[in-house]
Amino acid sequence: MTRAEITTPDVLPDESVVELSLRPQRLAEFIGQPKVKESLQIYIDAAIARRESLDHTLFFGPAGLGKTTLAELIAREMGVNIRTTSGPALEKPGDLVGTLTNLRAGDILFIDEIHRLKPVIEEFLYPAMEDYKIDIRLSEGPKAQTITMGIEKFTLVGATTRLGMLTPPMRARFGIEQRLNFYPASDLEMIVRRTAEVIKVTIDSGGVEEIACRSRGTPRVANRLLRRIRDYAQVKSGGIITRDIAKDALQLLDVDQFGLDDMDSRILKTIIEKFDGGPVGVTTIAAAVGEDAGTIEEVYEPFLVQNGFLQRTPRGRMATAQAYRHFGFTMPSSGSPQPSLF
Ligand code: ADP
Repeated sequence: MTRAEITTPDVLPDESVVELSLRPQRLAEFIGQPKVKESLQIYIDAAIARRESLDHTLFFGPAGLGKTTLAELIAREMGVNIRTTSGPALEKPGDLVGTLTNLRAGDILFIDEIHRLKPVIEEFLYPAMEDYKIDIRLSEGPKAQTITMGIEKFTLVGATTRLGMLTPPMRARFGIEQRLNFYPASDLEMIVRRTAEVIKVTIDSGGVEEIACRSRGTPRVANRLLRRIRDYAQVKSGGIITRDIAKDALQLLDVDQFGLDDMDSRILKTIIEKFDGGPVGVTTIAAAVGEDAGTIEEVYEPFLVQNGFLQRTPRGRMATAQAYRHFGFTMPSSGSPQPSLF
Protein backbone atom coordinates (compact mmCIF):
# COMPACT_ATOMS: atom_id res chain seq x y z
CA MET A 1 0.00 0.00 0.00
CA THR A 2 1.29 3.44 -0.81
CA ARG A 3 0.78 6.19 1.71
CA ALA A 4 -1.92 7.98 -0.27
CA GLU A 5 -4.03 4.83 -0.33
CA ILE A 6 -5.04 5.24 3.29
CA THR A 7 -7.75 7.72 2.31
CA THR A 8 -8.73 6.39 -1.10
CA PRO A 9 -12.50 6.00 -1.49
CA ASP A 10 -12.03 2.72 -3.35
CA VAL A 11 -12.00 -0.67 -1.72
CA LEU A 12 -8.45 -1.91 -2.15
CA PRO A 13 -7.83 -5.32 -3.74
CA ASP A 14 -6.52 -6.95 -0.56
CA GLU A 15 -9.41 -5.52 1.41
CA SER A 16 -12.50 -6.98 -0.17
CA VAL A 17 -12.19 -10.37 1.54
CA VAL A 18 -11.33 -8.87 4.94
CA GLU A 19 -14.18 -6.35 4.63
CA LEU A 20 -16.63 -9.21 4.40
CA SER A 21 -15.54 -10.62 7.74
CA LEU A 22 -15.30 -7.17 9.31
CA ARG A 23 -18.87 -6.21 8.54
CA PRO A 24 -21.20 -6.52 11.52
CA GLN A 25 -23.83 -9.24 11.13
CA ARG A 26 -26.73 -7.55 12.94
CA LEU A 27 -27.90 -3.96 13.15
CA ALA A 28 -27.45 -4.05 16.92
CA GLU A 29 -23.75 -4.85 16.39
CA PHE A 30 -23.25 -1.83 14.17
CA ILE A 31 -21.15 0.59 16.21
CA GLY A 32 -22.04 4.28 16.43
CA GLN A 33 -24.51 6.40 14.40
CA PRO A 34 -27.15 5.91 17.14
CA LYS A 35 -29.83 8.04 15.48
CA VAL A 36 -29.52 6.25 12.16
CA LYS A 37 -29.58 2.88 13.85
CA GLU A 38 -32.61 3.70 15.96
CA SER A 39 -34.61 5.10 13.06
CA LEU A 40 -33.77 2.17 10.82
CA GLN A 41 -34.72 -0.33 13.49
CA ILE A 42 -38.13 1.34 13.81
CA TYR A 43 -38.75 1.43 10.04
CA ILE A 44 -37.63 -2.19 9.71
CA ASP A 45 -39.78 -3.42 12.60
CA ALA A 46 -42.80 -1.52 11.26
CA ALA A 47 -42.33 -2.90 7.73
CA ILE A 48 -41.95 -6.45 9.05
CA ALA A 49 -45.06 -6.07 11.22
CA ARG A 50 -47.05 -4.85 8.20
CA ARG A 51 -45.49 -7.54 6.02
CA GLU A 52 -44.48 -4.86 3.57
CA SER A 53 -41.24 -3.99 1.87
CA LEU A 54 -39.18 -1.19 3.41
CA ASP A 55 -39.54 2.25 1.83
CA HIS A 56 -36.81 3.22 -0.62
CA THR A 57 -33.89 4.35 1.51
CA LEU A 58 -31.10 6.79 0.79
CA PHE A 59 -27.83 6.96 2.75
CA PHE A 60 -25.54 9.90 2.32
CA GLY A 61 -22.23 10.90 3.84
CA PRO A 62 -18.49 10.61 3.17
CA ALA A 63 -16.90 7.38 1.94
CA GLY A 64 -16.10 4.59 4.38
CA LEU A 65 -18.70 5.49 7.04
CA GLY A 66 -20.82 2.37 6.65
CA LYS A 67 -23.43 2.98 3.92
CA THR A 68 -22.87 -0.37 2.20
CA THR A 69 -22.69 -2.11 5.57
CA LEU A 70 -26.07 -0.67 6.57
CA ALA A 71 -27.67 -1.74 3.27
CA GLU A 72 -26.50 -5.30 3.93
CA LEU A 73 -27.71 -5.15 7.52
CA ILE A 74 -31.16 -4.02 6.40
CA ALA A 75 -31.36 -7.04 4.08
CA ARG A 76 -30.34 -9.33 6.91
CA GLU A 77 -32.81 -7.82 9.38
CA MET A 78 -35.64 -7.97 6.85
CA GLY A 79 -34.68 -11.51 5.84
CA VAL A 80 -34.46 -10.62 2.14
CA ASN A 81 -31.89 -10.85 -0.65
CA ILE A 82 -29.73 -7.95 -1.70
CA ARG A 83 -28.34 -7.24 -5.16
CA THR A 84 -25.57 -4.70 -5.42
CA THR A 85 -24.53 -2.41 -8.24
CA SER A 86 -23.26 1.13 -8.65
CA GLY A 87 -24.18 4.23 -10.64
CA PRO A 88 -21.16 4.23 -12.96
CA ALA A 89 -21.49 0.48 -13.68
CA LEU A 90 -24.93 0.87 -15.28
CA GLU A 91 -24.66 1.76 -18.97
CA LYS A 92 -28.22 1.25 -20.21
CA PRO A 93 -31.63 0.32 -18.77
CA GLY A 94 -31.18 -3.18 -20.16
CA ASP A 95 -28.45 -3.73 -17.55
CA LEU A 96 -31.11 -3.57 -14.84
CA VAL A 97 -33.96 -5.49 -16.47
CA GLY A 98 -32.70 -8.92 -15.44
CA THR A 99 -31.97 -7.82 -11.90
CA LEU A 100 -35.31 -6.07 -11.39
CA THR A 101 -37.41 -8.85 -12.83
CA ASN A 102 -35.63 -11.40 -10.66
CA LEU A 103 -36.17 -9.53 -7.40
CA ARG A 104 -38.65 -11.07 -5.02
CA ALA A 105 -41.05 -9.03 -2.90
CA GLY A 106 -39.11 -7.10 -0.28
CA ASP A 107 -35.68 -7.75 -1.85
CA ILE A 108 -33.17 -4.95 -1.90
CA LEU A 109 -31.43 -3.39 -4.86
CA PHE A 110 -28.44 -1.46 -3.57
CA ILE A 111 -27.04 1.23 -5.86
CA ASP A 112 -23.79 2.76 -4.66
CA GLU A 113 -22.76 6.18 -6.00
CA ILE A 114 -26.33 6.75 -7.06
CA HIS A 115 -25.59 10.37 -7.97
CA ARG A 116 -23.62 9.02 -10.93
CA LEU A 117 -26.53 7.27 -12.63
CA LYS A 118 -27.05 8.20 -16.27
CA PRO A 119 -30.28 10.20 -16.89
CA VAL A 120 -31.74 7.37 -19.01
CA ILE A 121 -31.29 4.94 -16.14
CA GLU A 122 -32.89 7.36 -13.71
CA GLU A 123 -35.90 7.72 -16.03
CA PHE A 124 -36.13 3.96 -16.22
CA LEU A 125 -36.03 3.64 -12.44
CA TYR A 126 -38.76 6.18 -11.65
CA PRO A 127 -41.75 3.96 -12.59
CA ALA A 128 -39.94 0.97 -11.10
CA MET A 129 -39.65 2.76 -7.77
CA GLU A 130 -43.07 4.34 -7.82
CA ASP A 131 -45.43 1.88 -9.51
CA TYR A 132 -43.25 -1.23 -9.61
CA LYS A 133 -43.37 -1.24 -13.40
CA ILE A 134 -40.65 -1.16 -16.00
CA ASP A 135 -40.80 -0.27 -19.67
CA ILE A 136 -38.86 -2.63 -21.86
CA ARG A 137 -37.97 -1.50 -25.38
CA LEU A 138 -38.28 -4.33 -27.85
CA SER A 139 -36.13 -2.69 -30.53
CA GLU A 140 -33.97 0.34 -31.15
CA GLY A 141 -34.96 3.66 -32.73
CA PRO A 142 -37.65 6.32 -32.25
CA LYS A 143 -40.56 4.08 -33.24
CA ALA A 144 -39.43 1.21 -31.07
CA GLN A 145 -42.16 -0.79 -29.39
CA THR A 146 -42.14 -0.99 -25.65
CA ILE A 147 -43.89 -3.32 -23.29
CA THR A 148 -44.63 -2.55 -19.68
CA MET A 149 -43.90 -5.22 -17.15
CA GLY A 150 -44.80 -5.44 -13.50
CA ILE A 151 -42.10 -6.22 -10.96
CA GLU A 152 -42.26 -7.17 -7.29
CA LYS A 153 -42.35 -4.52 -4.57
CA PHE A 154 -38.64 -4.21 -3.98
CA THR A 155 -36.68 -1.68 -1.93
CA LEU A 156 -34.10 0.52 -3.58
CA VAL A 157 -31.30 1.48 -1.22
CA GLY A 158 -29.11 4.22 -2.63
CA ALA A 159 -25.81 5.53 -1.29
CA THR A 160 -24.13 8.77 -2.19
CA THR A 161 -21.22 10.85 -1.04
CA ARG A 162 -22.68 13.85 -2.91
CA LEU A 163 -26.27 14.51 -1.96
CA GLY A 164 -26.19 17.81 -3.84
CA MET A 165 -25.48 16.00 -7.09
CA LEU A 166 -28.50 13.73 -6.84
CA THR A 167 -31.31 14.98 -9.10
CA PRO A 168 -34.35 16.31 -7.19
CA PRO A 169 -36.82 13.85 -8.82
CA MET A 170 -34.62 10.93 -7.78
CA ARG A 171 -34.20 12.24 -4.26
CA ALA A 172 -37.95 12.79 -3.94
CA ARG A 173 -38.58 9.09 -4.54
CA PHE A 174 -36.83 8.00 -1.36
CA GLY A 175 -39.15 7.67 1.62
CA ILE A 176 -36.27 7.32 4.08
CA GLU A 177 -33.18 9.53 4.06
CA GLN A 178 -30.36 9.00 6.52
CA ARG A 179 -27.19 11.01 6.89
CA LEU A 180 -24.03 9.36 8.21
CA ASN A 181 -21.62 11.53 10.14
CA PHE A 182 -17.96 11.14 10.98
CA TYR A 183 -17.50 8.91 14.05
CA PRO A 184 -16.27 10.24 17.39
CA ALA A 185 -13.00 8.71 18.67
CA SER A 186 -14.87 6.68 21.31
CA ASP A 187 -16.84 4.82 18.60
CA LEU A 188 -13.73 4.33 16.50
CA GLU A 189 -12.01 2.80 19.52
CA MET A 190 -14.74 0.16 19.69
CA ILE A 191 -14.41 -0.46 15.96
CA VAL A 192 -10.61 -0.82 16.21
CA ARG A 193 -11.00 -3.27 19.12
CA ARG A 194 -13.53 -5.31 17.21
CA THR A 195 -11.42 -5.40 14.05
CA ALA A 196 -8.35 -6.37 16.09
CA GLU A 197 -10.30 -9.34 17.43
CA VAL A 198 -11.47 -10.36 13.97
CA ILE A 199 -8.00 -10.16 12.42
CA LYS A 200 -6.44 -11.62 15.59
CA VAL A 201 -3.94 -8.97 16.55
CA THR A 202 -3.03 -7.99 20.10
CA ILE A 203 -3.36 -4.28 20.78
CA ASP A 204 -3.28 -2.39 24.08
CA SER A 205 -5.56 0.52 24.95
CA GLY A 206 -2.88 3.08 24.08
CA GLY A 207 -2.61 1.59 20.62
CA VAL A 208 -6.39 1.62 20.22
CA GLU A 209 -6.62 5.28 21.23
CA GLU A 210 -3.80 6.32 18.94
CA ILE A 211 -5.38 4.69 15.89
CA ALA A 212 -8.90 5.89 16.71
CA CYS A 213 -7.96 9.53 16.98
CA ARG A 214 -6.02 9.50 13.73
CA SER A 215 -8.62 7.77 11.57
CA ARG A 216 -10.37 10.86 10.16
CA GLY A 217 -13.58 9.80 11.91
CA THR A 218 -13.87 6.98 9.36
CA PRO A 219 -14.16 3.23 10.15
CA ARG A 220 -12.64 2.21 6.83
CA VAL A 221 -9.56 4.32 7.55
CA ALA A 222 -9.36 2.93 11.11
CA ASN A 223 -9.43 -0.63 9.76
CA ARG A 224 -6.83 0.20 7.14
CA LEU A 225 -4.48 1.80 9.63
CA LEU A 226 -4.84 -1.12 12.00
CA ARG A 227 -3.90 -3.59 9.29
CA ARG A 228 -0.86 -1.57 8.22
CA ILE A 229 0.26 -1.12 11.82
CA ARG A 230 -0.15 -4.84 12.41
CA ASP A 231 2.47 -5.45 9.71
CA TYR A 232 4.79 -2.97 11.37
CA ALA A 233 4.25 -4.52 14.80
CA GLN A 234 4.89 -8.00 13.45
CA VAL A 235 8.33 -6.99 12.29
CA LYS A 236 9.24 -4.62 15.14
CA SER A 237 7.57 -5.83 18.32
CA GLY A 238 6.55 -9.45 18.05
CA GLY A 239 3.10 -8.56 16.76
CA ILE A 240 1.85 -6.50 19.71
CA ILE A 241 0.53 -3.01 19.00
CA THR A 242 1.27 -0.50 21.73
CA ARG A 243 0.88 3.28 21.60
CA ASP A 244 4.56 3.74 20.72
CA ILE A 245 4.46 1.15 17.97
CA ALA A 246 1.30 2.77 16.58
CA LYS A 247 2.95 6.20 16.69
CA ASP A 248 6.08 5.01 14.90
CA ALA A 249 4.08 3.19 12.24
CA LEU A 250 1.80 6.18 11.69
CA GLN A 251 4.80 8.41 11.25
CA LEU A 252 6.09 6.04 8.60
CA LEU A 253 2.67 6.20 6.93
CA ASP A 254 2.78 10.01 7.03
CA VAL A 255 -0.36 10.26 9.12
CA ASP A 256 -0.04 13.14 11.57
CA GLN A 257 -1.57 13.63 15.04
CA PHE A 258 -4.87 14.89 13.56
CA GLY A 259 -5.02 12.05 11.07
CA LEU A 260 -4.06 14.32 8.18
CA ASP A 261 -2.17 12.39 5.55
CA ASP A 262 0.20 13.29 2.78
CA MET A 263 -2.54 14.47 0.38
CA ASP A 264 -4.34 16.55 3.03
CA SER A 265 -1.07 18.33 3.77
CA ARG A 266 -0.38 18.91 0.11
CA ILE A 267 -3.83 20.39 -0.44
CA LEU A 268 -3.55 22.77 2.52
CA LYS A 269 0.05 23.74 1.86
CA THR A 270 -0.73 24.38 -1.81
CA ILE A 271 -3.55 26.75 -0.87
CA ILE A 272 -1.30 28.55 1.61
CA GLU A 273 1.93 28.68 -0.37
CA LYS A 274 0.77 28.94 -3.95
CA PHE A 275 -2.53 30.77 -3.60
CA ASP A 276 -1.93 33.01 -0.60
CA GLY A 277 -4.40 31.05 1.48
CA GLY A 278 -7.20 31.29 -1.12
CA PRO A 279 -9.90 31.65 -2.15
CA VAL A 280 -9.02 29.23 -4.93
CA GLY A 281 -11.21 26.92 -7.01
CA VAL A 282 -11.15 23.18 -6.43
CA THR A 283 -10.15 22.40 -10.02
CA THR A 284 -7.12 24.66 -9.66
CA ILE A 285 -6.15 22.92 -6.41
CA ALA A 286 -6.67 19.55 -8.11
CA ALA A 287 -4.33 20.46 -10.97
CA ALA A 288 -1.71 21.75 -8.53
CA VAL A 289 -1.66 18.63 -6.34
CA GLY A 290 -2.23 16.11 -9.15
CA GLU A 291 -5.45 14.64 -7.75
CA ASP A 292 -8.91 14.34 -9.25
CA ALA A 293 -11.20 17.29 -8.31
CA GLY A 294 -14.09 14.95 -7.45
CA THR A 295 -11.89 12.95 -5.08
CA ILE A 296 -10.73 16.13 -3.38
CA GLU A 297 -14.34 17.22 -2.90
CA GLU A 298 -15.66 13.86 -1.77
CA VAL A 299 -12.78 12.37 0.19
CA TYR A 300 -10.45 15.05 1.51
CA GLU A 301 -12.52 18.19 1.90
CA PRO A 302 -15.33 16.95 4.16
CA PHE A 303 -12.84 16.02 6.88
CA LEU A 304 -10.75 19.16 6.45
CA VAL A 305 -13.84 21.36 6.60
CA GLN A 306 -15.34 19.53 9.57
CA ASN A 307 -12.08 19.85 11.50
CA GLY A 308 -11.59 23.53 10.81
CA PHE A 309 -8.64 23.38 8.40
CA LEU A 310 -10.48 24.48 5.31
CA GLN A 311 -13.34 26.81 4.53
CA ARG A 312 -15.62 26.54 1.53
CA THR A 313 -16.70 29.96 0.31
CA PRO A 314 -18.66 30.96 -2.82
CA ARG A 315 -15.38 32.23 -4.32
CA GLY A 316 -13.39 29.09 -3.58
CA ARG A 317 -11.51 27.25 -0.86
CA MET A 318 -9.61 29.07 1.87
CA ALA A 319 -7.07 27.81 4.39
CA THR A 320 -8.09 28.68 7.96
CA ALA A 321 -5.94 30.15 10.72
CA GLN A 322 -5.75 26.63 12.18
CA ALA A 323 -4.26 25.32 8.93
CA TYR A 324 -1.62 28.07 8.99
CA ARG A 325 -0.73 27.22 12.57
CA HIS A 326 -0.68 23.49 11.89
CA PHE A 327 2.01 23.82 9.25
CA GLY A 328 3.95 26.51 11.11
CA PHE A 329 3.00 29.42 8.86
CA THR A 330 2.01 32.81 10.16
CA MET A 331 -1.19 34.10 8.65
CA PRO A 332 -0.36 37.21 6.70
CA SER A 333 -2.58 40.27 6.81
CA SER A 334 -1.41 40.75 3.22
CA GLY A 335 1.25 39.22 0.97
CA SER A 336 2.60 35.68 0.95
CA PRO A 337 2.72 33.57 4.07
CA GLN A 338 6.06 33.08 5.73
CA PRO A 339 7.04 29.95 7.61
CA SER A 340 7.47 31.05 11.19
CA LEU A 341 10.82 30.38 12.83
CA PHE A 342 9.44 29.47 16.23
P1 ADP B 1 -19.33 3.14 2.66
O1 ADP B 1 -20.29 2.26 1.89
O2 ADP B 1 -20.01 4.25 3.41
O3 ADP B 1 -18.18 3.63 1.83
P2 ADP B 1 -18.68 0.65 4.05
O4 ADP B 1 -20.02 0.21 4.51
O5 ADP B 1 -18.10 -0.04 2.84
O6 ADP B 1 -18.68 2.23 3.83
O7 ADP B 1 -17.68 0.51 5.30
C1 ADP B 1 -16.28 0.52 5.16
C2 ADP B 1 -15.60 -0.41 6.15
O8 ADP B 1 -15.78 0.08 7.46
C3 ADP B 1 -16.16 -1.83 6.16
O9 ADP B 1 -15.07 -2.71 6.33
C4 ADP B 1 -17.04 -1.90 7.37
O10 ADP B 1 -17.01 -3.16 7.93
C5 ADP B 1 -16.42 -0.88 8.29
N1 ADP B 1 -17.46 -0.19 9.06
C6 ADP B 1 -18.17 0.88 8.62
N2 ADP B 1 -19.02 1.30 9.59
C7 ADP B 1 -18.81 0.48 10.64
C8 ADP B 1 -19.40 0.43 11.97
N3 ADP B 1 -20.29 1.31 12.37
N4 ADP B 1 -18.98 -0.53 12.79
C9 ADP B 1 -18.03 -1.41 12.39
N5 ADP B 1 -17.43 -1.41 11.18
C10 ADP B 1 -17.83 -0.47 10.31
